[in-house]
Amino acid sequence: MARKPLFAGNWKMNLNHLEAINLVQKLAFSLNDRDHDRAEVAVIPPFTDLRSVQTLVDADKLRIAYGAQDLSAQDSGAYTGEISGAMLGKLGCAYVLVGHSERRQYHGEDDALCNAKVKAAYRHSLTPILCVGEGLPVRQEGRQVEHTLAQLDGALDGVPADQVKSIVVAYEPVWAIGTGEVATPKDAQEVCGAIRTRLAELYGDDVAAAVRILYGGSVKSDNVAGIMAEADIDGALVGGASLDAGEYVKICRFGE
Ligand code: PEP
Repeated sequence: MARKPLFAGNWKMNLNHLEAINLVQKLAFSLNDRDHDRAEVAVIPPFTDLRSVQTLVDADKLRIAYGAQDLSAQDSGAYTGEISGAMLGKLGCAYVLVGHSERRQYHGEDDALCNAKVKAAYRHSLTPILCVGEGLPVRQEGRQVEHTLAQLDGALDGVPADQVKSIVVAYEPVWAIGTGEVATPKDAQEVCGAIRTRLAELYGDDVAAAVRILYGGSVKSDNVAGIMAEADIDGALVGGASLDAGEYVKICRFGE
C-alpha cells in the first residue's frame, strides 16, 4: 500500500493557546478535501495549547491531526514538570515527537531515553515521530549514515515489529534545523534510503515499506517539491515555516 505523505508542523515554544486556535482555524479554512486526501496534515503545538486545539478539531470535525513535542518515559508519579503519554492520549493526540535534536542538545536526551519514550508512546497508543540526524562535524567527516542509523537502532531497541510498522522517522540533519540551510534532495535521500534499508534488515520488507520517513530542516514552500520527489521521503517535519498558515499550506501542497 502506498504511504500517505505526512506534514507535521513543529511549533516549538511558540504561540499561546489563543494564537494556536487562530493558526489552526486559518489552516482549516485554507486546506480543502483534495489537500487532505493527498497528504496528512498535523500540528505539534506546545503542551499548553493542546486542549484548545483538541476542542477546535473536535467541534468542527477538522481533518487536522495533532501531537505533542515530547512525553515522559514514565506513566505517572513523582516526576515534576513531566507530561505522560496517558495525558496526551486523553487529549486526543495522535503523534508525539521523540528525540528532537533540541531535546537531545538542551536536555541531554540520549538514545536510551529515546528508546524508553518510544515504548511509553506505544503504551498509550501514540505514534512516535522519532527524530534522528547528524550534527555538522559528523556530516563533515562523512559519517552521517552511520551516526543516524546508530540513533535509529538505539531508539528502537526491543520495540516489536508490529509497533515499528506504524512509527514515523524524521531525518533531521541538525545543521539544517532553523538555519535556512537545507539538505539537497540527494543528501536527504541518501540517509532516508539508508534508514529504510536498515528497517528492512531489522524488521523485514513489509515493515520497511510501511514506515513513513520525513525530512526536516528548513523546509519551505520553495524547496519542498524537490525533497518530496525522492523515493524514500514521505513528508516533512516543518519548524519555523509551520507558524505561517499560508506558507505551511503551500508546503502541504508540495509547494504547488
Ligand atoms: C524542526 O523543528 O524540526 C525543524 C525542522 O525546524 P526548521 O524547519 O525551522 O528548520
